Amino acid sequence: MTQHCIFCSIMPPYLLKKYAESSDPQVRDRALATIEATERARAIRAALSQTLNLARVGPGVARTKVRRIFDCQGTSDLSRQLVMQENDQPPADVAVREAYDFAGITWDFYNTVFGRNSINDGGMTIVSSVHYSENGQGFDNALWNGQQMIYGDGGEQFGRMTQCLDVVGHELTHGITQFSAGLPYHNQSGALNESMSDVFGVVIRQWHDNQTDPATANWLVGDKLLLNGGALRSMKAPGTANPDDPQPAHMKDYVNLPDNPFGDSGGVHYNSGIPNHAFYLAATAIGKPSWQTAAKIWYITLTQRLKGETDFAKCANETISVARDFFDDATAKKVSQAWIDVGVITQAVGPVASLGMKAIKPSESGKKAAKGTAVAKKAALASTHKRKPAKMSVARH
Ligand SMILES: [Zn+2]
Repeated sequence: MTQHCIFCSIMPPYLLKKYAESSDPQVRDRALATIEATERARAIRAALSQTLNLARVGPGVARTKVRRIFDCQGTSDLSRQLVMQENDQPPADVAVREAYDFAGITWDFYNTVFGRNSINDGGMTIVSSVHYSENGQGFDNALWNGQQMIYGDGGEQFGRMTQCLDVVGHELTHGITQFSAGLPYHNQSGALNESMSDVFGVVIRQWHDNQTDPATANWLVGDKLLLNGGALRSMKAPGTANPDDPQPAHMKDYVNLPDNPFGDSGGVHYNSGIPNHAFYLAATAIGKPSWQTAAKIWYITLTQRLKGETDFAKCANETISVARDFFDDATAKKVSQAWIDVGVITQAVGPVASLGMKAIKPSESGKKAAKGTAVAKKAALASTHKRKPAKMSVARH
């Protein structure tokens, strides 16, 4: 079984499973249809790779946004009708407009804040297919299939799948992870894959809505996507987004599940609550707009520091290291504390071991308590050999 995130849907399996066990036949049938259609969409991926021109383009390509929206017209034919291209007049169909607009905002965010040229950083056309369904049964899901976006219409337990900017941003970020760190889609690396999508999906919406204060910003994923008013997840308070939200916020509540589809590939939609909450804590502690500092730390980590199998501790220490290299020790300590507060690390280790010691280094604290001790010497050594930041690849625009 491949573990690369080539197929990531917004709907957590535990929600669809719950509805599939409903005593209401309408709710049950719709959930089963969505589960089955989601599974079948996996098979479509192979055919897509031969029909859509989504190859990575050369570095000389113009930094131009290119979007294409197809209308499946209630079928599983992803390219049934091309209904909107770049700069077309917006049609009356709200799902088409949202898929187009939110893909554009996501492209703008990554380009403006990080200097990224589309999903693959190579000018990739963003293709979206809306009104996906099989046999008229409806489809309560939105997904990135490794090459393009697919949206159902919702309507039974969930709203229109194109309606939330953070959901669109979440799914397209799966593509960015696919083209950068990889993060195999199981266990902790899969939960990090999910978390990165939640982080950037929410930050994109905060950026678009100009929610500059992390303390008062909206940290919900899929806010009001559930027709009962609930959200899919909460980064501020994992486990509270809806009555069936099982997400932990701390390692002491880490959910051990089998690494198979029945176990959510090792709980990738469960345990993502832990790194999600770490990002929330870091962003609020830093206090600046989430996209200005915290998201840059996470983006550099995702695109430059992580590759393949990654556990929470590795991600934690790389974000701390990036915070120190690209910002300052005070920022790094806030990031470190966030990961400590969710139980992923007990203290900063590895490349940031000097952080704790620097606090008692005489030259910085003015105190003499540590002078001459091994700790002070190690701190001084670490300070002397502090890594020079790599070339800053973000904030070019
Ligand atoms: Zn996802």
